[in-house]
Amino acid sequence: MPGKIILPGSTIGILGGGQLGRMTAIEGRKMGYRIICLDPTPDCPCGQVADDQIVAALDDVAAAIRLAERSDVLIYEFENIDVRLVEELERSYYLPQKSHVLSVAQNRILEKQQLEKAGFPVVPFVIVRNIEDLKIGTAQIGYPGVLKTATGGYDGKGQFVLNNPQDFSKAAELVQSHDNIWVLEKKISLTQEISVIVAREEAGGMAVYPVSENIHRENILHITVVPARISPQRESMAVEITRGIAQYFKLVGVLAVEFFVTPQGLLVNEIAPRPHNSGHYTLDACFTSQFEQLIRAVCGLPLGSTQLMTPAVMINILGSTLPKILENIPNFSGDVKIHLYGKHGNPAPKRKMGHLLFKTDCPVQTDKIIKKFWDDGQWVT
Ligand code: ADP
Ligand code: MG
Repeated sequence: MPGKIILPGSTIGILGGGQLGRMTAIEGRKMGYRIICLDPTPDCPCGQVADDQIVAALDDVAAAIRLAERSDVLIYEFENIDVRLVEELERSYYLPQKSHVLSVAQNRILEKQQLEKAGFPVVPFVIVRNIEDLKIGTAQIGYPGVLKTATGGYDGKGQFVLNNPQDFSKAAELVQSHDNIWVLEKKISLTQEISVIVAREEAGGMAVYPVSENIHRENILHITVVPARISPQRESMAVEITRGIAQYFKLVGVLAVEFFVTPQGLLVNEIAPRPHNSGHYTLDACFTSQFEQLIRAVCGLPLGSTQLMTPAVMINILGSTLPKILENIPNFSGDVKIHLYGKHGNPAPKRKMGHLLFKTDCPVQTDKIIKKFWDDGQWVT
């Protein structure tokens, strides 16, 4: 069934006002949409570029309803938003992304169980509610393992690596001291990490972006290289799995699938039913960005071409690397695009503050850029 058509000139209400909302708002305004966001931080990254911002907590139901009343369509940009609020909004307002896939992606246990049930390859895992489970889990999974909070984790937060049995007591302490449920995963010896972003419209049509290769530092995305340096077989397998997942969840909007590449094949790490950091390259390197694509999907417009216009390398700018990168902006060539998200204050070292997008012409140049930013995550001259 085709969804509603929401034409430019209409208002898009965004739940959340971080950088994903900001980039979505910029793309939406280019097309002539009006944007209002809901976020507790005054003058938040999205609020700075939107027509208006409602300053309120993301679990403030009355404020969310005020946003909904002023909007023709609602979207969420923030994954850890209270799913009960999204459920309530979708009952009375137009929220085509819907709450279901969000509720699954928010919870690592549901996410892994559903993906496994649907036949997608996931990392071996066990659910850990208490120390007894942790004992059984470590016996089953072995070392090394990664203990992760089932909910609320992002950018590597809420994770603990158990390298050997000596780490058990620290993990047990964590399990005991937090009122959380955890998953214990096998720590995979991966050769690479890749991700694929897919857009799907209500009627079922899909558009898939080129596979990107992701390099993490301390569990945070640091560099994305596109096209990914993987075999055509791996590439088509990743695309096939991603399309399958979007279809399984009857996705409307944009979804990213993160994969671990191992010598034995691909494993799905996690999914995110929204634009993704590894897709920021699409703003400058693809005909249609992931943000425009989200708007197209929820507004019932035809999905745009995902064609890669140039090979590229994306470098994340974190709180720790921002000063050095700012200092070096005058030295950048015209092949570099600068994106800063307008976050206020003295940033935490691991806070995502912006990104750079380098247009590259050949693998040698790609390697050079990676090396430049690899050593200490800063601009190495
Ligand atoms: P987040 O929600 O914080 O992105 P992820 O589960 O994607 O959490 O973990 C962040 C990064 O940590 C991954 O991209 C990967 O580099 C590393 N990592 C997480 N789990 C594993 C694992 N089971 N084996 C190997 N590396 C892992
Ligand atoms: Mg991740």
